[in-house]
Amino acid sequence: MNLMARQDRVLLGGLAVALFVVFARPIRYLLDLARAVEESSGLALVPALIILTAVFLFHQQGKRHEAKARAAAARADAIQSEARALEMERLVTFGQGLGRALEMETIRDVVLHDLPRLAGTDQAWVLLWEDGHWKPLVGTASESREVERAREHLADRALLGGSWTSDAIATEGHLCLPLMAGGHPVGVLGIPDSAGPFGRQRVLAMAAALLSISLRNAQLFHNLREYSLRDGLTGCFNRTHALEGVDTELRRARRSHLPVSLIMFDIDHFKDINDRYGHLCGDAVLAAVGARMREGLRGSDLKCRYGGEEFLVLLPETPLEGAKRVAETLRRELADVPINWKGETVAVTASFGVSVALPTEIDGQALIGRADAALYRAKEQGRNCVRLTIEPAVA
Ligand code: GH3
Ligand code: MG
Ligand code: MG
Repeated sequence: MNLMARQDRVLLGGLAVALFVVFARPIRYLLDLARAVEESSGLALVPALIILTAVFLFHQQGKRHEAKARAAAARADAIQSEARALEMERLVTFGQGLGRALEMETIRDVVLHDLPRLAGTDQAWVLLWEDGHWKPLVGTASESREVERAREHLADRALLGGSWTSDAIATEGHLCLPLMAGGHPVGVLGIPDSAGPFGRQRVLAMAAALLSISLRNAQLFHNLREYSLRDGLTGCFNRTHALEGVDTELRRARRSHLPVSLIMFDIDHFKDINDRYGHLCGDAVLAAVGARMREGLRGSDLKCRYGGEEFLVLLPETPLEGAKRVAETLRRELADVPINWKGETVAVTASFGVSVALPTEIDGQALIGRADAALYRAKEQGRNCVRLTIEPAVA
């Protein structure tokens, strides 16, 4: 801090001149006296006084420079401390946000909001490593497939090329931080060189550690939920989730005014398969049916095991005719490709009932009931066939 402003110095200068004018006569008297003493004693008082004054001024100047340097260093320290405190505050906010997030969507929102401020750039990206594939969590908007591929290549180098450590790697103009949790790779966080020097590496490393734990938790939470919702044998959703899913989808369809259909099917003479080949074979048949459903149906279709050997498929945005075609394809695939059990060929067929939601219908049980009635007719009319709901589905 400057103790004396420019105006103050002018004032002091003026004061000194005024004092000199006021005390001109005493000064002159003192000088005359000094000269008299010099002449009488042979001492050089005036030059000594001048040298002393010069040394004193020089010393004062040096002290002033030193004080200035100390003030500048303190100022720099204060700025750095302020920046660190801000970084810490942002990191805490980031951690708190992640702490509340148990799902990927929420983590994405937190990262989108906080990462640019932590990284000092909106060019930061995060790729997730899921089931042997890279999947973007966040990246800059409007990136092409080429940019995505380049990032995947960087992430490969950072995570898989290394020895699975969380050490940051500077590669091809990017700083890549592997996201590791519990010894598992969960993704890579990257920022391009062009975003500035990698000065924020320390804070980014901490952010990456927080993000890794949060991603791993979300994955575990997702797996746990999946296990509780799915049937272990077929991989289909269980009956409770089916009923919830049908209700949710009906409400969505009512808002969007789009059709939604439902297929119910039941394996024909399944008891005979159990009796003839054993229950383990029956289980293998059920697992194979689940696998065929996953392969043949859309990801957006809700696939459920409704009962023992009874299945339900909810098809969003699909009219009755479309659902009939889907049921017919599945029926043919099951009938045409027998299941191999310990070298034996086990023929499997199923009977299908198809219904469509009435406009504004929100009663899932009624929709399932109509598909069940159609399935009952399929059984009555010879099995291994598809029957549609009798009611005029859409007015
Ligand atoms: P239909 O053509 O009329 O449907 O005859 P079905 O024999 O398929 O029907 P039924 O209801 O008589 O028999 C169903 C059998 O499915 C009886 C039950 O023991 C068997 N089952 C139910 N769940 C399982 C399971 O998880 N594993 C095995 N192996 N069998 C099961
Ligand atoms: Mg059956
Ligand atoms: Mg049955």
